[in-house]
Amino acid sequence: MADCIFCKVAAGEINATIVKRTPDMIAFRDIKPVAPTHVLVMPVQHLVAVRDATGDAGHLLLGKLLAFTAEVAGELGLDARGYRIVTNTGPDAGQSVDHLHFHLLGGRKMAWPPG
Ligand code: 5GP
Ligand code: ZN
Repeated sequence: MADCIFCKVAAGEINATIVKRTPDMIAFRDIKPVAPTHVLVMPVQHLVAVRDATGDAGHLLLGKLLAFTAEVAGELGLDARGYRIVTNTGPDAGQSVDHLHFHLLGGRKMAWPPG
C-alpha cells in the first residue's frame, strides 16, 4: 500500500535490520527498542489489524504469523527465559503504524499489567 512505512520495509524501500523472512512474513528490529530484544513481525500483505484477516485465507495468515513469531523467538534464544507477543490495535492501545504487526519483546523481566 502506498504511504505505508511497513509496506516500504517489506519492499526494501526503507532500510531495516531483517531478522528472518519468508515469501509472506518478515521480522525486523524495531527502530526504537523498548527491550533488549524488540522485533516486529508482520505479514508482507497490508492489513491494518488482526480483525482484518478474515475468512479461511486470513485465518491461515494469522496462524502463520503467530507460528513465525514463535520461531523467531526460539531462533533469538528467547525460549528459556520467555518473551511477550503484543499487537497494539487502535488509538487506546497506541497503534502508530497501521500495518498489522506483532511486537516480540524479550531479554528482560516484563511488568504486568502493561502500561
Ligand atoms: P505500534 O505503535 O504501531 O504498535 O508499533 C510501531 C512500531 O514501529 C514502534 O515500536 C516504532 O518504534 C516502530 N517503527 C516505526 N517506524 C519504523 C521504521 O521505519 N523502522 C523500524 N524498524 N521500526 C519502526
Ligand atoms: Zn502496509
